[in-house]
Amino acid sequence: KLYNQVQDLKGNIRVYCRVRPFLAGQASRFSTVDHIDEGNISIITPSKYGKEGRKSFSFNKVFGPLASQEEVFADTQPLIRSVLDGYNVCIFAYGQTGSGKTYTMTGPRELTEESLGVNYRALSDLFLLSEQRKEVICYDISVQMLEIYNEQVRDLLATDEIRNSSQNGINVPDASLVPVSSPSDVLNLMNIGHGNRAVSATAMNDRSSRSHSCLTVHVQGRDLTSGTVIRGSMHLVDLAGSERVDKSEVTGDRLKEAQHINKSLSALGDVIASLAQKIHMFLTGTANSRNYYKIHLAKTLMFVHISPETDALGETISTLKFAERVA
Ligand code: ADP
Ligand code: MG
Repeated sequence: KLYNQVQDLKGNIRVYCRVRPFLAGQASRFSTVDHIDEGNISIITPSKYGKEGRKSFSFNKVFGPLASQEEVFADTQPLIRSVLDGYNVCIFAYGQTGSGKTYTMTGPRELTEESLGVNYRALSDLFLLSEQRKEVICYDISVQMLEIYNEQVRDLLATDEIRNSSQNGINVPDASLVPVSSPSDVLNLMNIGHGNRAVSATAMNDRSSRSHSCLTVHVQGRDLTSGTVIRGSMHLVDLAGSERVDKSEVTGDRLKEAQHINKSLSALGDVIASLAQKIHMFLTGTANSRNYYKIHLAKTLMFVHISPETDALGETISTLKFAERVA
């Protein structure tokens, strides 16, 4: 029984790695990815002496450049389904700018049915399941969309003027909470949210790469016979680009942005790593049953994204090292 509980806990933090394909016009370029096999990936690292080396990393799963959105979602689905049973689920997309975070969570700019990302598929799945259970449990589903930029929270679904967080900090409960009942409701809201996401004039200045965006789904289910209420939530987070900014080269707003991003991403790493640590404590018998309970009701999945290009190698290695720390 203990063994099963431990397996269960270990399953509550998962790390998936996804490698972006080369983009149109890049096809013949040299990839830094040497080999992918289930949960293992090895990267080609040129050594100082001109000889190639290999560096291997292990995760719960590695998706190669040919993996479809559907395949990626198939391994995400069980996590999403647990939201209806009262779990709090967090899914993060981590990686340098251009590595495919938004592709995984939302999809490409020109969406097709096949290219729809995790966010939309997750909500569609929740509707489908709640429909199947409707004789037994009545579910209400509602969503919030937030952007976090320089530690300021913006409500992406605010229809009136933009409401920033109070001086005291984050005030998420104030953010618009919009009831949804069909996949098309969700698509409409996602369009509004993306439209509200500030993007400045040039691509280089694209603010979306320097802010975190979060789609939160709240689920409340009422058991039709007992009246018991169950609450679950899901945070789907497209993080700011993880690339390190050379502090000697930026000043002013850029430097401030870089510092905020650094701080928040390293805090995220600490939080997830400490969750993993708690699990270790449980294994060695020092955590009490309350800790177990808390961990048990939260599930976290991090998608770490890497680009295959040789000029991304430095960021690729530091991304994989970051991810391995929390895996
Ligand atoms: P990020 O959000 O990390 O900055 P994007 O998701 O915007 O990166 O991806 C950068 C570019 O690569 C986009 O044009 C996107 O459509 C494309 N892309 C990313 N991942 C994939 C993939 N798995 N398959 C095909 N195209 C992808
Ligand atoms: Mg993006």
